[in-house]
Amino acid sequence: MKIGVYPGSFDPVTFGHIDVIKRASKMFDKIIVLVMYNSAKASPLFSKDERVNMIREATKDLDNVVVESYDGLTIDYCKANDIHIIVRGLRAITDFEYELQIAQTNKELSHGLVDTVFLTTSIRYSYLSSSTVREIASYNGDIYPCVPGFVAKAVYEKFGFDHIEQGDM
Ligand code: ADP
Repeated sequence: MKIGVYPGSFDPVTFGHIDVIKRASKMFDKIIVLVMYNSAKASPLFSKDERVNMIREATKDLDNVVVESYDGLTIDYCKANDIHIIVRGLRAITDFEYELQIAQTNKELSHGLVDTVFLTTSIRYSYLSSSTVREIASYNGDIYPCVPGFVAKAVYEKFGFDHIEQGDM
């Protein structure tokens, strides 16, 4: 069985992430979305459980997608679960240097056993990032084009804004 793991902080999950998950789910027998802590990023808006539950809801129609959280290195999760492929998304050249470094580090740490494949973003989501979503929402701006309606509502709640859930766009 061909299994891919898609790790990230997903704080919160955006349409860009969901697009990568959908496309990856067609390429692999099973995709594990792994919600992780990123020490390079400021304290998260959502707890790991909240992030896991939001991704589960957003991917509930995809039978071969499972969502889990993990405290540790992606490579250790891969080793423990006999997984050899990491999936990551690439938006712009600015992602490239960071992603290349992690991919090569993971390859070295796994003694060549774990490779990373990249899905380039769909153009319409290329501007999207979780940090932009948080920034816009903190000023009560419109994040409905960026995330599913139930995620938008949860993000606004975190910033103390009361929004009626809108349909997904
Ligand atoms: P991390 O904290 O590991 O960078 P993120 O949640 O920010 O995790 O992103 C997870 C992965 O999804 C990364 O590979 C990132 O480049 C990718 N990604 C984020 N937003 C998009 C998008 N709009 N289109 C495609 N890939 C994306």
